[in-house]
Amino acid sequence: MKTQVGIIGGGPSGLLLSQILHLQGIENVVLERQSRDYVLGRIRAGVLEQGLVEMLRDAQVGERMDREGLIHDGFHLAFGGRTERIDLKGLTGGKTVMVYGQTEVTRDLYNARDDMGGLVIDEATDVTPHDIETDAPYLTFVKSGLETRLDCDFIAACDGFHGVGRQSMPKNVLKTYERVYPFGWLGVLSRTRPVDEELIYANHARGFALCSMRSPTLSRYYVQCALDENLDEWSDDRFWDELKTRLPEAAAATLVTGPSIEKSIAPLRSFVAEPMTHGRMFLAGDAAHIVPPTGAKGLNLAASDVYYLSRALIAQYQKDDETGLKNYSKTALSRVWKAERFSWWMTTLMHKFPDQGVFDAKMQQAELDYLTSSKAGMTAMAENYVGLPYQEGDEQ
Ligand SMILES: Cc1cc2nc3c(=O)[nH]c(=O)nc-3n(C[C@H](O)[C@H](O)[C@H](O)COP(=O)(O)OP(=O)(O)OC[C@H]3O[C@@H](n4cnc5c(N)ncnc54)[C@H](O)[C@@H]3O)c2cc1C
Repeated sequence: MKTQVGIIGGGPSGLLLSQILHLQGIENVVLERQSRDYVLGRIRAGVLEQGLVEMLRDAQVGERMDREGLIHDGFHLAFGGRTERIDLKGLTGGKTVMVYGQTEVTRDLYNARDDMGGLVIDEATDVTPHDIETDAPYLTFVKSGLETRLDCDFIAACDGFHGVGRQSMPKNVLKTYERVYPFGWLGVLSRTRPVDEELIYANHARGFALCSMRSPTLSRYYVQCALDENLDEWSDDRFWDELKTRLPEAAAATLVTGPSIEKSIAPLRSFVAEPMTHGRMFLAGDAAHIVPPTGAKGLNLAASDVYYLSRALIAQYQKDDETGLKNYSKTALSRVWKAERFSWWMTTLMHKFPDQGVFDAKMQQAELDYLTSSKAGMTAMAENYVGLPYQEGDEQ
């Protein structure tokens, strides 16, 4: 087999890249290790920055999102018995975020790829990149017991944190930076009306809690938990009791509870791999970086990588201009590190750390108090939350 861009991974990064390239007449093939049902069964992110929303519209996959997604103009911070609103729209000159599940984004992208005749090979195992330092890289993979070779001009490794792309980079080239947080998030998805029209981020003496949603009838709630927490010990009742304890009184009183339809524990990690390019292979999304979910940045960072990489590949094919590809790692990383900083800061501000003393708790309260009483403080938070602008022209 032969194509122009071989894409490893059929998550949101790989599918969005595939869709954008296809619309510009650039041939590509996506190799996904899992079955489609498995990929579409994953419950993950749900808050989309405006940059990603616009990319999805431009990629002709925004129709259902615009119909079913919820535009959020702000969110709430609860701490020390108070609840303060961050007015995203007012503080950023009109910017907002869209609440629309990653699962739905992925479904829309799969449907679009199918409708346009895009080639997404599911259940492709043993995907291996070869000769990435040469002008003729290729991928091998096994499908239904048959090994196949896919020759391509470039490889995009959009294969998530545990993917094969980053692992095939030479050890002396790759530098990684990591912080593992000493707690996780216990998340519950329930078919109940969300407790509020907007998200509530709560800093509480018993630990962080988040009230989020996927639709007007589908709620997503989280409580901070220990890393070694046993999921079996968390009945729905226990979860709802703990969540109510950590929420502001008014929210706890109106919280609608119901049976969980998904319950899981996610560890929290900050991670960056540098560089994001080696030879003719480019890393995008979770393959290159992970953020703790506190600032809702994981999926959105994947999108900004795809923005830079797709533009660079289009310039390469349509104008024979390789500048974007040469600068890809530097351009993408500049935004990655800023989102890493925001996610780390918000995680540090909102969570209870195991070694946290009274002084540290007082510092958190003082910072939240300052932040919500200062227009400058709230503006800094709001402009990071809605997403920093993509650097126009920097990729050229
Ligand atoms: C449990 C969980 C909860 C999350 N919650 C949030 C949240 O609330 N908010 C938020 O902003 N972000 C969240 N994230 C992060 C967000 O989901 C990711 O940043 C986003 O999925 C990144 O997209 P991606 O396409 O780069 O990677 P992925 O979505 O991981 O997709 C990578 C794809 O590559 C495939 N793959 C892997 N290895 C191979 C291989 N060797 N060969 C072929 N295919 C391969 C995988 O099966 C997968 O489909 C969460 C992540 C997880 C894991």
